[in-house]
Amino acid sequence: MSAPLAPVVANAPNALLVLDFDGTISHIVDHPDDAVAIEGVIDVLTDLTSYLRVAFITGRPVEWLVARMSPLAEHGVEFIGLHGHERLRDGVIVPHRDAAPWRDVIDEVHTNVIAVAPEGVIVEPKGLGLAIHWRTAPEAQDWIRSFVAQSVAETGLVAHPGRFAMELRPPVDLDKGHAMDELIEEHHPGAVAFFGDDLVDLPAVFAMRRHRDTPSAAFYVASHEGPQQMADAADVVLNGPDDAMAVLVALRADLAARG
Ligand SMILES: [Mg+2]
Repeated sequence: MSAPLAPVVANAPNALLVLDFDGTISHIVDHPDDAVAIEGVIDVLTDLTSYLRVAFITGRPVEWLVARMSPLAEHGVEFIGLHGHERLRDGVIVPHRDAAPWRDVIDEVHTNVIAVAPEGVIVEPKGLGLAIHWRTAPEAQDWIRSFVAQSVAETGLVAHPGRFAMELRPPVDLDKGHAMDELIEEHHPGAVAFFGDDLVDLPAVFAMRRHRDTPSAAFYVASHEGPQQMADAADVVLNGPDDAMAVLVALRADLAARG
């Protein structure tokens, strides 16, 4: 067994296993929509729910995760999406309390932009965000920029530039660290393990470390584009999602042997 996981095994069932999705239990792919969980990982995680609490914290919308991992939700796995802005509770996607009041504002802007946008502009609702794309209508770029600027002024939403797009989001600054704090404060686990691959995962590691009375283990699932800061912060550096899978399989065996 990986020694840093000893407290997790010792504290089961009051232990928490938290995972990122992309690059952690799925290989990085060119097109984000093509990402799939590596083979067998859903079965291993399902088995692990018999021994401890399992949670995902991802930048993806919860809806996206549910579409790919729904058997896990049925086994009580927690799904936190959009870097902590939404969470699955009893089968319902619930916005974070700080973000919830902005849902109506986003819906209103959505209705408005559909009514007035020039032809070819693509409007993409993203739960608590709204992306407006000019990729298929380059001549509409100025119109989109001025629509977004006006919406920002009128609503207090924040504009984020994207690739051939502008995105409007609530002025709520949540990251994976907030999501980790929420899980730990809600469940009071005796030990926590986290698996992640990216810079956006670092706040989750730091949040876990701040709970000094709770033993923690950080696994960095490395890739050639991965950040050195994650390697520095982690207890264990793994060589990609297949190695993460191997650690999860070993953890399952340890927990099963312990009974
Ligand atoms: Mg990732």
